Amino acid sequence: MNLILLGPPGAGKGTQAKRLQDRYGVVQISTGDMLRAEVAAGSDIGREARAVMEAGQLVSDDILIRMLGARITRPDCARGFILDGFPRTVPQAEALDRLLADTALRLDAVIELAVDDSALVERISGRYTCAKCGAGYHDSFQKPQAEGVCDGCGSQVFTRRADDNRETVVARLEAYHRQTAPILPHYAAQAKLQAVDGMADIDEVTRQLTAILDRVAT
Ligand code: ADP
Ligand code: ADP
Ligand code: ZN
Repeated sequence: MNLILLGPPGAGKGTQAKRLQDRYGVVQISTGDMLRAEVAAGSDIGREARAVMEAGQLVSDDILIRMLGARITRPDCARGFILDGFPRTVPQAEALDRLLADTALRLDAVIELAVDDSALVERISGRYTCAKCGAGYHDSFQKPQAEGVCDGCGSQVFTRRADDNRETVVARLEAYHRQTAPILPHYAAQAKLQAVDGMADIDEVTRQLTAILDRVAT
C-alpha cells in the first residue's frame, strides 16, 4: 500500500503515520526527519537546509526530489510506504508522478488531514519527541502514561524541534497555504484525494484513516 498523508504542519501526519506503519506493515517516510538527520550529521545537504528550516521555509525541490527518489527505491519500501511531508510543492508532486511511473508503482490513496490554522500553533508549540525511539508526544494532548518517561522505550530524554516555536510556525503555515495547498487540486484531478477530519482526537483520526485504508489495503 502506497499512501500520501497531506496536511499543514502539526496536522498529525507523523502521529498517524507511525500508527499506520505498524498496522499495515509499510514504512513511514518523513522528509522532515530525513532532513533533520542530515542537519545532525553536518552533511552538505544539512548545511544547506538548516537555516531554511529554522526560518520555516521550504528546502529546494531539487534536494527533496533526489532524496525521496533514493528513499522509495530502497528494499524496505517493497511492501509500501507512507509519505509524510512530501510532496510539498507542485513540482515535487509532478516529480513524484514521474518517479512512480518509472518504477511501476502506484498510489493507493492521498489523504488530507484537515485542521484549522487556529489549532496548529498550540499543537506545534506543545510537541516533543522521545530522543531515543522517536515516539511523539504533546504537553496537553498526548502525555506519556508516567510523567517524563517514554511509553515506548522508557527513556527520560526528550527533544523539542528548533523550528517548533510560535514565530516560525507563522512562516510555516504561510508556506503551507502558498506552496503546499496547491497540490490538493493536483490529486483531486487524479481522483485520488480524500479528506479526514484532523480536528478530531488522535484515536478518532486513526479510526477514520483505517476505515479508508482497510478498503484499499492489499
Ligand atoms: P505533523 O507531522 O503533521 O507535523 P504531528 O503528528 O507531529 O504533526 O502532531 C503535532 C502535535 O500535535 C504532536 O505533539 C501530537 O502529539 C499532537 N497531535 C497529533 N494529532 C492530534 C490530534 N488529533 N489532536 C490533538 N493533538 C494531536
Ligand atoms: P511539519 O510536518 O511540522 O511541517 P516536517 O518535519 O515535515 O514538519 O518538516 C520540517 C521542515 O523541513 C519544513 O518546515 C521544511 O523546511 C523542511 N521540509 C520537510 N519536507 C520538505 C519538503 N518535501 N520540501 C521542502 N522542505 C521540506
Ligand atoms: Zn522512547
